[in-house]
Amino acid sequence: MNTPPPVSHLMHTTARPPVVFTHGSGSRLYDATGRDYLDWVQGWAVNSLGHSPAVLVEALRKQAGRVINPGAAFFNEPSLALAEWLVAHTCFDQVFFTSSGAEANEGAVKLARKWGALHRGGAHEIITFHNSFHGRTLAMTAATGKAGWEAMFAPMMPGFVKAVFNDLDSVAGLIGAQTVAIMLEPIQGEAGVIPASRTFMQGLRQLCDTHGLLLIVDEVQTGCGRTGSLFAHQSHAIEPDVMTLGKGIGGGIPLAALLARERACCFAPGDQGGTYTGNPLMCAGGLAVMDEIGKPAFLQAVQARGARLRRGLETLSQRHGHGEVRGAGLLLALQLSADIGPALVARARDGGLLLNAPRPDSLRLMPALNIEEAELDEGLAILDSLL
Ligand SMILES: *Cc1c(COP(=O)(O)O)cnc(C)c1O
Repeated sequence: MNTPPPVSHLMHTTARPPVVFTHGSGSRLYDATGRDYLDWVQGWAVNSLGHSPAVLVEALRKQAGRVINPGAAFFNEPSLALAEWLVAHTCFDQVFFTSSGAEANEGAVKLARKWGALHRGGAHEIITFHNSFHGRTLAMTAATGKAGWEAMFAPMMPGFVKAVFNDLDSVAGLIGAQTVAIMLEPIQGEAGVIPASRTFMQGLRQLCDTHGLLLIVDEVQTGCGRTGSLFAHQSHAIEPDVMTLGKGIGGGIPLAALLARERACCFAPGDQGGTYTGNPLMCAGGLAVMDEIGKPAFLQAVQARGARLRRGLETLSQRHGHGEVRGAGLLLALQLSADIGPALVARARDGGLLLNAPRPDSLRLMPALNIEEAELDEGLAILDSLL
C-alpha cells in the first residue's frame, strides 16, 4: 500500500513508515485510511493487555477525575498500592517510580554508586554486556553494549565495562577493586532475543555473593508477565539485589520502576527524585495492569500462547529453511537465513501484520499477552505466505 508520507515537524529520529495510526483495540491497530493491522509489536512489548484495554482506560479515567499529581514529595494512594503490590510479588523491599526504563536504570546506577561509596570503599564500576540495551540517556548509552554506540555522543560517561553474555569467565575476569555491580537483561531483547542461561544467571548470583557486588536485572522488557513468569529472573530461581521495570508495567503509559532489596536501599532524602515520580495517574494505570497480569490463570495462558506461537514459528522455519526460534513466553525471535528482516517487516505491514526486526537477520514477536489463539494463527498464516 502506498500512502504519501504525512507532513511532519517531528525530529527525524527514526524511519517511520507512511502510516498514521488513529485507534486500536486489543491486538488490532487502525490507520487514518480505516485499514486494520494485526499488531505483533504492541509499542515494542509495551501494551501488555493490547490497545486501550478497558481496565486501563477505566482506571485512568477514574484517577484523572480524582487527582492527577499532588506532587512527588507527598504520599498518594495509587503509588503506595502499586509499590505494595510489587513488593508482595517479588524479593524486593522498596520501589522508586520513574517515567521511562532508561530513567529507572539511571536510578539503579546511582543506587549502586552510592552503595559502593558507603560499603565498598568507593567502588563504582558496573559490568554490563556486549550487545546489551539499557536505554538512551547519556549514562545508559555508555552502559549499553550496542556496536557503534561507543563513539556516538562523546565523551562517554566512564564507569561501565563490557563482558561477554553467557560467559561467566569473561565476567569474573573483569571484576576488580572498583567493581560494584553486574547489570544485565535476563533476555537481551534488542540483541535479537538472546536468553541468559540458567547456569549463567545462577553463576552471576554466586559471583556477586563471593565478591560483595550488587546484581542488577534490567527487566524493562522481560518483566511483568512477558516471558510467562511474572518476572524473568524468577524462572531461574535467583534473587537479584536490584531490578528495573518499564514497558509492560504501564500497559502503554509512561511508567517504570526501580526496585531494591533492603541491603541495597541506601538513598537518603535528596539523592533521587523527579517531578513525575509516583504520580497517581500513572500508578493507578500500572496497578490496573498488574492486577490483571497477577490473576491466577493469566500467566498460564501466556505460557500456552507462547508455546503455540513458538510451535507455529518452528513449523514455518522448517518449511522455509530458516533458523532457530529463541526466547520465552511471548517474547520470541525467529532467526532468518539472510538479512531479509527489514524487507519482511515492510511487506508484512502491507499485508496487515505489524512485525519488528531487531537485527537484519531476525524477527522479534511481542504480541499482547492476552492475544487470542485465532489471532496467533492469523499472523502465522500471513508470515507463512511472506516467507
Ligand atoms: C526499552 C528498554 C529500555 C529503555 O526503556 P525506555 O522506557 O525506552 O527508556 C531499557 N532496557 C531494556 C532492556 C529495554 O528493552
